Amino acid sequence: MAQSNKPIYLSPPHMSGMEEKYVREAFESNWIAPLGPHVDAFEKEFARYTGAKGALALSSGTAALHLALRYIGVEPGDTVFCSTLTFVASANPILYRGALPVFIDSEPESWNMSPLALKRALREAEKNNRLPKAIIVVNLYGQSADMEPILELCRRYGVTLIEDAAESLGATYDGKPSGTFGKFGIFSFNGNKIITTSGGGMLVSHDTEALEKACFWATQARDPANHYQHSEVGYNYRLSNILAAVGRGQLEVLEERIKSKRAVFERYREALSSIKGLTFMPEAPFGRSTRWLTVLTLDPRPYGVSVGDILQRFNEQSIEARPVWKPMHLQPLFQRAPYYPHHAHESISDRLFAQGLCLPSGSNLTLEQQQKVIEVFTEAIKE
Ligand SMILES: *Cc1c(COP(=O)(O)O)cnc(C)c1O
Repeated sequence: MAQSNKPIYLSPPHMSGMEEKYVREAFESNWIAPLGPHVDAFEKEFARYTGAKGALALSSGTAALHLALRYIGVEPGDTVFCSTLTFVASANPILYRGALPVFIDSEPESWNMSPLALKRALREAEKNNRLPKAIIVVNLYGQSADMEPILELCRRYGVTLIEDAAESLGATYDGKPSGTFGKFGIFSFNGNKIITTSGGGMLVSHDTEALEKACFWATQARDPANHYQHSEVGYNYRLSNILAAVGRGQLEVLEERIKSKRAVFERYREALSSIKGLTFMPEAPFGRSTRWLTVLTLDPRPYGVSVGDILQRFNEQSIEARPVWKPMHLQPLFQRAPYYPHHAHESISDRLFAQGLCLPSGSNLTLEQQQKVIEVFTEAIKE
């Protein structure tokens, strides 16, 4: 069948139908230009969903992080701590500010920032009189980090926390929405995220004045004057009204998308968990993961098959699977950045990178497609 040769994507966009209605409204009222009623509505609805006091719609999650770091006052020469196991977009804005990143390992429970490593890093920073201006904690693959001990350390050392919740929209920690624990939370609506506007982001905070300032910078920092006057450097970072219309339609079906993602995970778990050496990313007891992506590690020893071998088999069958993020402390870009592993001589993220695999996890993945992924995987193991 022609159907079975169609590529299977990692996490493709999944529209509900309402997006078109909202976009049509934007066309009919000619609100095509940046900003407009859908942007306001999207922000309100997003703030309501997350329980944050305010939300600022932006052109990307990266832009949201950049604005958060600037608001916190990160300057050249400052240090910023950041999870090492993440996409480079978590760390690039540190460089935009001319600051120095320090990378913190994962812990095995959630694969997110290790409170143990963070504690060691902060203790040492205090001793050297170089406490960071901010900590960026990343909530990976749909799951929150263990916020309580991390927040406790932030309070003890007086450091501001930013949550990179680009991958964890809809997740909870201790019953509360992911992305609302720090001074700022950032979200992304890039193409493969759990909901998408094709591209876009959101900055949330309980500090609405901070969001107003961020909004000012995001719209070219125009002084309150009739003529065009500027006293500070600004950016063009706002989300357009058309894309906000798409975002509104997507937000309405977020809960359904989470259900589908978790069902995809359950089916993989049933089909694959008896394979020796295979371990799924754990769901930590402190919260709900959305299972944005189904991720697993495979110890190559029992079968002599590596993650690289399996990726190649998937590739031959037009199945888009991915390795786990290459940790930032292993990136040429960050060669000189200090790194704090989970235990002094044990790096968790190095192992997750070496053995980790993300399976196709679209909320619109069909049963047939998923069956094919499972078959290709089990056949690759047997060889
Ligand atoms: C996608 C992503 C971002 C960046 O979001 P953009 O909207 O693409 O700029 C940041 N952090 C993490 C962890 C991400 O996965």
